Amino acid sequence: MSKVYNFCAGPAMLPAPVLAKAQQELLDWQGLGTSVMEVSHRGKHFIELADKSEHDLRKLLNIPSNYKVLFMHGGGRGQFAAVPLNITKAGDKASFVDTGVWSKKAIEEAQRFIDTDVVASSYQDEQGLWHVPQQQVVEVADDSKYLHFCPNETIEGLEFNFCPQASNGAPVIADMSSTILSRPINVADYGIIYAGAQKNIGPSGLAVSIVRDDLVGYARQQTPAILNYQLTDEFDSMYNTPPTYSWYLAGLVFEWLLEQGGVAAMAQRNQAKAGILYDYIDQSEFYRSQVAADSRSWMNVPFQLANDDLNAAFLAQAEQAGLRALKGHRIVGGMRASIYNAMPEQGVVALVDFMKEFERTQA
Ligand code: PLP
Repeated sequence: MSKVYNFCAGPAMLPAPVLAKAQQELLDWQGLGTSVMEVSHRGKHFIELADKSEHDLRKLLNIPSNYKVLFMHGGGRGQFAAVPLNITKAGDKASFVDTGVWSKKAIEEAQRFIDTDVVASSYQDEQGLWHVPQQQVVEVADDSKYLHFCPNETIEGLEFNFCPQASNGAPVIADMSSTILSRPINVADYGIIYAGAQKNIGPSGLAVSIVRDDLVGYARQQTPAILNYQLTDEFDSMYNTPPTYSWYLAGLVFEWLLEQGGVAAMAQRNQAKAGILYDYIDQSEFYRSQVAADSRSWMNVPFQLANDDLNAAFLAQAEQAGLRALKGHRIVGGMRASIYNAMPEQGVVALVDFMKEFERTQA
């Protein structure tokens, strides 16, 4: 089979060497003669795996010791509910930056439990280009309990390259589902960072939550046990049976990232990959990006063909060339290339070569 590059937005974009290692270990993990899926999560071997994965993630993101690292169920959306259920009371209010689809879904879920204020939004300039709000400090009500934002909007391809702060000093909560581990961050800027695993961490189902310890211990009485940060911490993320195979794969991804030189090395690669694609789009009359330069995602690159009538031919020929899943989300239309950590630069180069050739043959 000729080389295939998968530009799918998710679920689960895993680096090829990680999948190869998982395949090799599938039937016999650590010489136990069984798959990792079949061993007890309470047994020594799995507990070692869990400890090492936490240790590696702490190293990768330089997580301070006053933050808990929790491996949870329910993906990103589970955390949309977990945050208000763990750190607010009924009748409380929190502030939200609305930059697109995933911000809105987080707001909708939070509205079940608290009052929500949208305090900043993405905007289109005179050229029709989309920006994320650039305020470093976002004005919020004095009694707002937290400021929530989505550093990378997976569908619109909008990314923050800074962490906004709340004017009242309330904790900042970030949905990093589609950007975590793509670049260094200063964890201390955040109260809670959470991510559905399925872009840069591992398979879907798992969520990682990094929670400052002064925010643990305030869950509402009604909070489901599996969303409760304190219980999750007390049970070492094993209050009930954890998604062990996803956790195992996440651990392999963390090892792979450390071998690559960590998130600083990934940031260089990711910036270079995104640059190759945006540079080509920008100099072309045939393709265009609707995202302003200050807000372009390194992970999800939506782009349009100047002539929408060519979309079907573009997608069909791209598939034939081994370039998969480039169709844009229906809300945005056009194309979207998701180029998470697992996408090698050769994949982006192959895409740009294909785009050039398509442009040449259609022009
Ligand atoms: N947040 C963002 C930014 C996402 O991209 C996604 C899914 O793609 C989610 C949240 C929802 O994650 P899940 O499907 O794991 O609930």
